[in-house]
Amino acid sequence: MTKTIIKGKCVDISSEGKGVIKNGRDIIFSDGIFVGEEADIEILYQRAGVLYGKVKKLYNLSKDRIQPKCKVCTICGGCQYLQLDYKAQLDIKTKRVKDALNRIAHLKDIEINKCIGMDYPYNYRNKIQMPFGKDKKGNVVYGFYKENSHEIIPTKECAIEDKRAASILWDIKELIKKMGIPTYNEDNGRGILRYVLIRTSYHYNELMVVLVTSMLNFPGQRNFVDALIKLHPEITSIVENVNSRHTNVILGNKEKILYGPGFIKDDILGLTFEISPSSFFQVNPEQVEVLYKTALDLIDIKKNQIVLDAYSGVGTIGLIASKNAKKVISVEIVKDAHKNAIENAKRNNINNIEFHCGDAGEFINSYDGDLDIVVMDPPRKGSDEKFLSTLINKKVPQIIYISCDPETLARDLEYLKQSYDVTYIQPVDMFPMTAHVETIVSLRIKE
Ligand code: SAH
Repeated sequence: MTKTIIKGKCVDISSEGKGVIKNGRDIIFSDGIFVGEEADIEILYQRAGVLYGKVKKLYNLSKDRIQPKCKVCTICGGCQYLQLDYKAQLDIKTKRVKDALNRIAHLKDIEINKCIGMDYPYNYRNKIQMPFGKDKKGNVVYGFYKENSHEIIPTKECAIEDKRAASILWDIKELIKKMGIPTYNEDNGRGILRYVLIRTSYHYNELMVVLVTSMLNFPGQRNFVDALIKLHPEITSIVENVNSRHTNVILGNKEKILYGPGFIKDDILGLTFEISPSSFFQVNPEQVEVLYKTALDLIDIKKNQIVLDAYSGVGTIGLIASKNAKKVISVEIVKDAHKNAIENAKRNNINNIEFHCGDAGEFINSYDGDLDIVVMDPPRKGSDEKFLSTLINKKVPQIIYISCDPETLARDLEYLKQSYDVTYIQPVDMFPMTAHVETIVSLRIKE
């Protein structure tokens, strides 16, 4: 089959961080190309009327191009902007928010603050998860899956992960080879070690290793744990998580603590949280403080005010807000997160907060008390009409919307703007080197 090659110029960056290349009426999306650059693009496939390709040859390199701090960045698919200067990344993120608010929410002349970045935008991730397996020659490998595939790209070091993980992963690989502990084979369901998950604490010297295995009490377990602790005394806990199902979900339901307490703790803005293998916890511990502080500074909560923390996860935002409020009411749909939130309140001796487990829209609809401020932090798909229409009906005076997806944020703002003025928009970079961007929006009810 002959390959189709199209020459074109990159005119924009898509919301997924791909270059948008134009050639006459053709539009092609490709990784590894930035605005202003030209390239020969090999067409790979077409999906929903859009062509996707890969760069064969680049011309007119962008002045913002840099040497990436990662050897596999063109094949891994995890990061989109490793080859781009950090300031240019932040500009792209600010523009993405602006474009979405213009296009979808029709908020035209609105001021958008520049995306807040990190001083050192590498090695920030506190949660590292790597599949283990074998390459075609039978060597044990671990790394990231190649985009849209289950082929493991061996990754010795990842530029965005906590530096402490790399040598632990390497030594786990060496140990299982030495001890004959087989990696799991997805095709035939044989073997033992499926994934290694590492969670690190930013504020404490604590680090947890989770071995995701296909069977409980794998042979040689005790010796393996002893040897790993000896090599890495910085590990404070090791947990075995058993996942025997044929699935893409990493963690299973059964767990056994092999060493230490089975969790680590970390702080956000002076409060302490316990993190177990499956707990949700923000992955950028430095920027999460910037995110929450920026959001809460916008509302200046008073001692007589009642705050709703909707889509509250393990209760982080509500617990921080509770210091200044009369009362905080939290609502979260996932039972485990709800349970963790209650424990987090106890751990921090916070009593003026109540937790509800259920759908945010249904909860607020049935709630008949006062609400002065709503802080909402929905998942990527955004909020829904039930929740948003109830905010409008109840005439909640002030809303802080924290969003991890500018497009669904814009859709929800388009709806809210019938009753609310958008008074402040602040993008925050929680995920440097990737196309993701978090946005804080402040809304006030119209007079
Ligand atoms: N505010 C938290 C979590 C944000 S993630 C933090 O900053 O850490 C979004 C959360 O919304 C997740 O915990 C998810 O389980 C929850 N969620 C998703 N759909 C929901 C719904 N319909 N009602 C309530 N919570 C929901």
